[in-house]
Amino acid sequence: MNCLEERILKDGVVKEGNVLKVDSFLNHQMDIKLFDEMGAEFARRFEGKNINKILTIEASGIGIASVAALHFGGCPVVFAKKAKSINLDGEMYTAEVESFTHKNINHVIVSKKFLSSDDHVLIIDDFLANGCALQGLIQIAAQAGASVEGIGIAIEKGFQQGGRIIRNLGYQLESLAIVDGMDAEKGTIELRQQ
Ligand code: 5GP
Repeated sequence: MNCLEERILKDGVVKEGNVLKVDSFLNHQMDIKLFDEMGAEFARRFEGKNINKILTIEASGIGIASVAALHFGGCPVVFAKKAKSINLDGEMYTAEVESFTHKNINHVIVSKKFLSSDDHVLIIDDFLANGCALQGLIQIAAQAGASVEGIGIAIEKGFQQGGRIIRNLGYQLESLAIVDGMDAEKGTIELRQQ
């Protein structure tokens, strides 16, 4: 069992609606030593890939991606911003992302200055549920002509459809922990053996 899996079992809290709360170490208070170990594991799993940039989405992906970047030669991290209105001046790549936690639709944007066809990106995010956030980031990379070398996720909820959709698209998707089931009443979390 890796450090993230141990920590999920120790400090993860199961909420109604298939939501796993990990805000004591992952996406509110952040355990940077844990992030460092996660970054090292991503580097191991994507060894040999030609990665020059990490692409993530605000807010929760940023911390994980930033520490991981130190394991990829200190490459730049670009995060897709959630925009209130879309600026149609042609300077931005845009995608629509339905939020799993808030159930609303966000337009996410990345400036054309920071992503191009020269880029070989690793996409990183904290959670994979239905795959909407990842599909938005994949669309943005496609608009830029950048190649997606791989996708690194901290926690995949294996009982939701995102992992299957993204793997069926042919991407190397690496999730450091996969939750196969959880029960809000009993507070139990079932992890897939990897
Ligand atoms: P998806 O787009 O794959 O449906 O959901 C991924 C996004 O929703 C992630 O960026 C994450 O912020 C949020 N998310 C999805 N499931 C959970 C969850 O169980 N717990 C938390 N804290 N965030 C989640």
